[in-house]
Amino acid sequence: MERIDTEILVAGGGIAGLAATARFAAAGIDVVCVDPAPAGAPGADQRTTAFLEPAVATLDRAGAWAAMAPGAAALWTMRLVDAGGKVRQVRETADFEAREVMDRPFGWNVPNIAIREALLGRLERLAGARLLCGESVTGVVSRSAEALARLSGGAQVRARLVVAADGRDSSLRAAAGIGVKRWHYGQKALVFAVTHPEPHQGVSTEIHRTGGPLTLVPMPDRAGRPCSSVVWMAPGPRATALSALDDAALGAELTAETMGLFGPLEVVGPRALWPIIGQLAARLDGPRLALVAEAAHVIPPIGAQGLNMSLADIETLTRLVQEAREKGRDIGAPDLLASYQRRRWPEMASRVAGIDLLNRAAQAEARPVRDIRRVGLKAIHDIRPLRRLAMRWGLGVR
Ligand SMILES: Cc1cc2nc3c(=O)[nH]c(=O)nc-3n(C[C@H](O)[C@H](O)[C@H](O)COP(=O)(O)OP(=O)(O)OC[C@H]3O[C@@H](n4cnc5c(N)ncnc54)[C@H](O)[C@@H]3O)c2cc1C
Repeated sequence: MERIDTEILVAGGGIAGLAATARFAAAGIDVVCVDPAPAGAPGADQRTTAFLEPAVATLDRAGAWAAMAPGAAALWTMRLVDAGGKVRQVRETADFEAREVMDRPFGWNVPNIAIREALLGRLERLAGARLLCGESVTGVVSRSAEALARLSGGAQVRARLVVAADGRDSSLRAAAGIGVKRWHYGQKALVFAVTHPEPHQGVSTEIHRTGGPLTLVPMPDRAGRPCSSVVWMAPGPRATALSALDDAALGAELTAETMGLFGPLEVVGPRALWPIIGQLAARLDGPRLALVAEAAHVIPPIGAQGLNMSLADIETLTRLVQEAREKGRDIGAPDLLASYQRRRWPEMASRVAGIDLLNRAAQAEARPVRDIRRVGLKAIHDIRPLRRLAMRWGLGVR
């Protein structure tokens, strides 16, 4: 039986698992990443990810940001639009400007396919990183000094620490007996790209009416036309019906729903439907095990938080591991993992609760709730300390 020795085993090569592998290896740590997708499988994820400043810093430390930057669109302004009245019209607009809290954009929007390519390219050049494609982790036995993981192909990996980046249905989480709370919103998100005559000027726009937020996030121009990625959250049946429309009809629906803010919108490229759930693991640590990314938390796509939280998990864990290594300590020891739990779980839980509240407010059908939402938005925007606090919370910085 083949036996592979490493310091860290990352189970899962989604964007989070690949980013974790690059970040660990760039810090000089020996790491193996295992994912069932065959080698060279083309990326098919039609989503884009808005990386906020702290996440960009982590990707930069991983040495992966330089390859993503040329295809990224800068986000200078977060615009929230309330249109929750009887008639479809703008009732309130609140702009949150990056320049008020920093001298850089809030973040950058990058297509997931490009993120994946950049991370894979980086891993090829990182001496300490090994990617095992077409394999999954089928079981882990933890011992006092190491963890032994079985792979589907029959090999065994011996590691000090196992990082579960195996997604929302994490089998490593379940095998470790870590509970999870999952809830449903009855929504789906329709994801696609549009071009428009009006330039977006680096403004990410989130429109709240009923049923869920509709977000247009800047992308680089396409064929000389301003372009944005769309995440349209709506009750499941409505989202499914929208996704069945042809491009012209979907473009017309979106033009009406965006109240002409961008001019007539033209759908470009393929689309995808994502079910929307919320989920939080009861804890992040098990014997020689750390949960990261969607294995730990899943939230609706509001305020670009999901993968940004995942990169914060990865950054925190990398620093703890680096510190332990420098002191010659065990990188899978219970106290290190308890420290990871203490540093990440409370922040994660409050962010999951915050996004849950925002989504429920955005879903609201009842008039009084929609009015409270509008007044709340206006207050947060007009009261300077609240506005700055909201921006810092959104960015994930203190
Ligand atoms: C519509 C939408 C828009 C979004 N937009 C944003 C955004 O703008 N900004 C943001 O920060 N976040 C965003 N998110 C969230 C973000 O896309 C997700 O957090 C992220 O894609 C999840 O990545 P992951 O690597 O954790 O999970 P996954 O992509 O699910 O990866 C898990 C991987 O583990 C593998 N795996 C499973 N079991 C095993 C096993 N036993 N052994 C080995 N491998 C295994 C799977 O095959 C898979 O490849 C959005 C989400 C949605 C739905």
